[in-house]
Amino acid sequence: MAKKVILTGDRPTGKLHLGHYIGSLTNRLKLQDEAEEYVMIADAQALTDNADNPEKVRQNVLELMLDYLAIGLDPEKTVFFVQSALPELPELTVYFLNLVTLARLQRNPTVKNEMKQKGYGANVPAGFLTYPISQAADILAFKADLVPVGEDQLPMIEQANEIADTFNRFYGPVFKRAKALVSSTGRLPGIDGKAKMSKSLGNAIYLSDAEKTIKEQVMKMYTDPRHIHVEDKGKVEGNVVFTYLDAFDPDKSAVGALKRQYRKGGLGDVEIKKRLIEVLESLISPIRQKREKLAKDPERVMSILEKGTKKAGETTRKTLAEAKKAMKIDYFR
Ligand code: ATP
Ligand code: MG
Repeated sequence: MAKKVILTGDRPTGKLHLGHYIGSLTNRLKLQDEAEEYVMIADAQALTDNADNPEKVRQNVLELMLDYLAIGLDPEKTVFFVQSALPELPELTVYFLNLVTLARLQRNPTVKNEMKQKGYGANVPAGFLTYPISQAADILAFKADLVPVGEDQLPMIEQANEIADTFNRFYGPVFKRAKALVSSTGRLPGIDGKAKMSKSLGNAIYLSDAEKTIKEQVMKMYTDPRHIHVEDKGKVEGNVVFTYLDAFDPDKSAVGALKRQYRKGGLGDVEIKKRLIEVLESLISPIRQKREKLAKDPERVMSILEKGTKKAGETTRKTLAEAKKAMKIDYFR
């Protein structure tokens, strides 16, 4: 049986954090052993809302690679590549642009939300509004079966599948529908209790953070504002410390006991925060150590990316040729 193809990626706009870890990285780690896995650094997509800051995008390409390798993504199993180096992707995007209406783009809930967050209104860069189409090209070019992503990406996969359907209907069967693979935790909230931990919201704990930073961030965490005295009854739902314990503490029965005690009263916020600090430190400390070692040889790390990009290019060239043939624009050999 042919291996399943996995395609996923991240925007090089910052280092990876716990939200990425739970939302997508753990699934990537699991799948690299059994599937043909591609991980894309979406630098062209990052430029759609960072056009004036190429330095930031460039620097974070290396940071992402360090994060990937440090968490255990293995270049022998996973193909890493950089989006901008594969011209077939923007070429497919151009053809896909004809298959999507402006109204459909404006309805995409994730883009709508991000536009509001960034305060774009009608002055949205055209590249930003259309990034779901370029993301469809990324997914479809690899004929991905599965896309491990956070919940916020579901509308993107839906849009990619619509494009695949329309293309196939117009020109014949070339593209394959992809399935999103969303982690059971869904979306990890930020330490401030906001709906999403995000690089751009300043509410993240990074996989590379120092122990001291982890402590500071956890101590700042949003809990239950009405839980003032230790003996007060506390709320577990919406309490970020418990959300994180649920997501990261391997000892589920201990977490269950803490929840019961917290609800009843008699368990202080500092106690549960101390436990979370230990849990996070034991997750992050081996990642941090490996990352520090890798960071000493950035050229080696970039050559892994270069090698992967060459390999990924073989696939995108093949798919583009098929697409152009189907579209009857394959004039010359
Ligand atoms: P930016 O603010 O620049 O968009 P980001 O933090 O949203 O950065 P992305 O590179 O856009 O990160 O997302 C990479 C992947 O991680 C996506 O699949 C996204 O769904 C997932 N992801 C990001 N934040 C979270 C989160 N808080 N919980 C779960 N998944 C997340
Ligand atoms: Mg994002």
